[in-house]
Amino acid sequence: MINRRKALKSLATLPFIGSFLGANSLSANPSSAAIVSSVRRDFFKELGLRTFINAAGTYTSMTGSLMPKEVTDAISYGTTEYVNLDDLQDKVGERIAELLECEYATVSSGCFGAMSIGMAGILTGMDPEKVKQLPNTKGMKNEVIIQESHTIGYAQALTNVGAKVVKVKTTRDLEKAINKNTAMLWFLNAHTDQGAIKWEEFIALGKKYNIPTFIDCAADVPPVENLFKFTKMGFDLVSFSGGKGIRGPQSAGLLLGKRKYIEAARMHTPPRGETIGRGMKVNKEEVLGMLAALELYLQKDHKAEWAMWEAQIKLISDRALEIKGVETEVHVPKYANHVPSLRIRWDQSLVKITPSDVRDQLKDGHPSIQTVGDNSTVGITTWMMVPGQERIVAKRVSEILSSAT
Ligand SMILES: *Cc1c(COP(=O)(O)O)cnc(C)c1O
Repeated sequence: MINRRKALKSLATLPFIGSFLGANSLSANPSSAAIVSSVRRDFFKELGLRTFINAAGTYTSMTGSLMPKEVTDAISYGTTEYVNLDDLQDKVGERIAELLECEYATVSSGCFGAMSIGMAGILTGMDPEKVKQLPNTKGMKNEVIIQESHTIGYAQALTNVGAKVVKVKTTRDLEKAINKNTAMLWFLNAHTDQGAIKWEEFIALGKKYNIPTFIDCAADVPPVENLFKFTKMGFDLVSFSGGKGIRGPQSAGLLLGKRKYIEAARMHTPPRGETIGRGMKVNKEEVLGMLAALELYLQKDHKAEWAMWEAQIKLISDRALEIKGVETEVHVPKYANHVPSLRIRWDQSLVKITPSDVRDQLKDGHPSIQTVGDNSTVGITTWMMVPGQERIVAKRVSEILSSAT
């Protein structure tokens, strides 16, 4: 068997591949060992960064989710050839629309980016002069109505492109707020429970006044059905994060829905330059990564995955419950981050440590473990872990809590 070093060495002597591997690094350090080590460079270690077990969930600050090999293969494939960017988005948009049984789709720069370009498209339609003009909305309808209880910082995606948010509480308020400047109605799925107006009524109001409706479903996968549900229900535009439950690139997302609005949204995206969306670029690698992630996600055995998460949560919970004074609770958020989630709390007269100190010790230990929580609980999910890591988490939680008894 030809060994790896020898193989690389002989490859490096071929002029093309030699230069492909990097002529500079070869001449500066011609040993084949240098090439081998460059293949497996430990960048995070080199940079002095600690990696961690993600027992928290999908957080941008924690770099989202981990991409499966099928996704990184698609991304690597994308780096090897040129292709026309618009043609690629056209074809992938068609393919995603077919997979998700909706009219049209595009790959955006995250869910936030999907909201910005979707909003921008609704403001300008296909008018190139208006496209150039944003965020100045002079001469355009520019008001977006949202329910007050659906207020969230991410609505900045709408105001960034020039829209003005108008907040209402009831159906009556909403109908009163509608005027000749109303451009869109926006719904935050994560806050479905808090709002007085639910999906169907919201859509019906949009249809009644002929105003497009948009729903932010960033963190609403799982369940997989949500990828189909809201376009079928009648929302004109639906957005998802690519790098949360779908496990695509963290810098990608999906905008699904009516073709005419998505085509208008595309007016604002690269390669077009004089646009508000020029900085929200997604290149071929992310477009392919997003497609591959979506295909993989749709094929997944979702029941088996759910059962695995439940078993992982149970394992951690059982270990914690061995300690006197500890209580656990498993809950599944109804909307957004709909996965088995564990809350651990304890009687602090028996286990003498605060939740925040437990979380710090988990974070500062070896390996580092990130969790969520508040004054009275430590919160854990397992869906962003590499399977197997739940054992380490169970052991560390148990160690830290027992040492405080
Ligand atoms: C995560 C999130 C976003 C932003 O999504 P990105 O894909 O990170 O751009 C928007 N809205 C909600 C409700 C979210 O949870």
